[in-house]
Amino acid sequence: MTLKKCPLDTRPCMISSLARKTQDRRLHSLTNSITRSTMRLIKGMTTLLPSRRVDKDELIVDLETESNELFEILPGQFPLRIDKSTLQEDYIENIDTELSVTVEIDRSSDRFNVSASDKPLLGAHDVGMHLLIEIPDNLCNQDRKLLRDEVSNSVRHELEHISQGQRCDNPFSVFGRGSEYYTFINSSVDVDSSMAKYLLGPTEIPAFVRGYSHNSDDMDALISKIENFLTHYTEKGFIDDREKDIIFNTWIDWSRRFLKQKRFLN
Ligand SMILES: [Zn+2]
Repeated sequence: MTLKKCPLDTRPCMISSLARKTQDRRLHSLTNSITRSTMRLIKGMTTLLPSRRVDKDELIVDLETESNELFEILPGQFPLRIDKSTLQEDYIENIDTELSVTVEIDRSSDRFNVSASDKPLLGAHDVGMHLLIEIPDNLCNQDRKLLRDEVSNSVRHELEHISQGQRCDNPFSVFGRGSEYYTFINSSVDVDSSMAKYLLGPTEIPAFVRGYSHNSDDMDALISKIENFLTHYTEKGFIDDREKDIIFNTWIDWSRRFLKQKRFLN
């Protein structure tokens, strides 16, 4: 069966604020359930979502650290309606929206760190993500809380990339990813360092903002999280003070236009 393109699907991406709120809620709760299962795997517990131990031979890439623990979590279908006009040719006849989350745990690190990408490391599903969690052997409770925040920030960040479709080499985009979504007050040409250019990438701005918004109770909390993150990057010398201000203003402007949950409207 070939999908016919409906003319309505090709109109500029319009989305109502109710539809946007529904998107926000669905990705918020999906983020929480993936995070919960990931934290349980870290603790060596069973998960509520289906999950399994994965052998490194099943992966489509070679890992840098062979001794890491590997799991796959299957949280279900990607929960947003697909804008079918954005489907890549290879996927038109057979859209697989089932998410695969691969989780890699390195317990031999001296500090904790979470990194992620919007591609799973198993080839069976078209959409998903990979989480690499580096932790010390003895993680105290306070660190566990920080780790949980980091994991959920990363999960929400990668879900946003999945929703962006082709721009992130993902098979489909959802509604509401049109020109308004990709309008920013500054861009990578306004900064010099490669890190600042990356942080002003058109797909990264919404992903970083959504990630940091996940654990923010209101706009003030979001502003302080973003401020802390960017200050950390200036201290490390990745970006300079001028670039920090440009990135900060751009991210906050996008937040004010796109975060429509009640807690951010103050
Ligand atoms: Zn990103």
